[in-house]
Amino acid sequence: MRNKIRVGVLGATGAVGQRFVQMLVDHPWFELAALAASDASAGRKYGDACRWLLSSDMPPGVAEETVRETAPGIDCDLVFSALPGDLAGPVEEAFASAGYGVFSNASAHRQDSDVPLLIPEVNPGHLALIAAQRVRRGWERGFIVTNPNCSAVVLTMALAPLHTAFGLRSVLVSTMQGLSGAGYPGVPSLDALDNVIPFIGGEEEKLSLEPRKMLGKVVEGSVEFADFAISAHCNRVPAREGHLETVSVALESPATPEEVIGAWRAWRPIPQQLDLPSAPQPPLVVRLEPDRPQTRLDRDAGGGMAVSLGRIRPCSVLDIKFVVLGHNTIRGAAGASVLNAELMVAQGMLDA
Ligand code: NAP
Repeated sequence: MRNKIRVGVLGATGAVGQRFVQMLVDHPWFELAALAASDASAGRKYGDACRWLLSSDMPPGVAEETVRETAPGIDCDLVFSALPGDLAGPVEEAFASAGYGVFSNASAHRQDSDVPLLIPEVNPGHLALIAAQRVRRGWERGFIVTNPNCSAVVLTMALAPLHTAFGLRSVLVSTMQGLSGAGYPGVPSLDALDNVIPFIGGEEEKLSLEPRKMLGKVVEGSVEFADFAISAHCNRVPAREGHLETVSVALESPATPEEVIGAWRAWRPIPQQLDLPSAPQPPLVVRLEPDRPQTRLDRDAGGGMAVSLGRIRPCSVLDIKFVVLGHNTIRGAAGASVLNAELMVAQGMLDA
């Protein structure tokens, strides 16, 4: 690629925004050209406005960048949005309407019928919705592409090969979700420590719906949802990063645990075939130890972009049960968006 594409980050000072900065600062295809946040941060140096939360240091040079206002006009071709959900809807539309490509982490547009809810390994064909989106909304160059909720991406990566190979009838999932999923400062320490909180507002609804959109088909400019039921229990646990989920599935065609493992291991979707810069090789890591995956030991598999699976065994109520784990602020947020943009570049849908 001759010229790097100039990109901006909205919500750049937040938990997900910092992951974007970390992933984009040395990206081979993208140049980090603009950092934007709230009015309280705009005009300040990024190093002063941002309380850096990641274990690696703030990348050199970024600290001296001036934080921009969150409004169209910032000097870049596309934006990655890590804005709070209530704000993201109108702001992302304003950017797309002004001609920017918008890659959003927020939930605001995920269920819009003409907006791709994308995992590049799972439903790259849903990018076809962008043509319908531009016609419906009168956008010539801009668009919105969303990535799923952080627990939904982990579950859907596990389900996709099973849906293709055996068909899904129903899914029962219980999550154990890390604290960083609530942003910073998130859940107060006196609520989180020594505790499990069996409620995360809106999460069960997202986890029940989003995988069915992603595993659905594009028909005449919108998505026909996959026809299976998901029942979700979502829990906040005192891990810092990582969402672990225990899952039982009923399949259309019977399969043994060995056949399920075979389907996961054989999965080599488009991002891996194209060797996209952020695509983990392999996308799914199957572990055969009796007590893996574990949140602290396995969340960083594939640089935080791979999803780990284990404890695959028959289920006496449904058909098969297993454990799945993914990193919520990398594969579940910033990394997911960056991979979405890489897929569009590789498919000739974005250029500098
Ligand atoms: P966060 O840590 O609270 O960060 C919010 C960011 O938005 C900050 O940069 C903040 O800037 C900025 N902001 C707040 N109000 C603003 C305003 N009025 N105008 C412009 N910018 C404003 O949140 P987060 O955890 O990074 O989450 C960001 C988004 O990603 C949310 O929609 C969330 O649902 C989604 N998401 C999060 C995760 C996760 O694991 N955390 C996973 C998937 C998706 P200031 O510093 O200036 O206030």
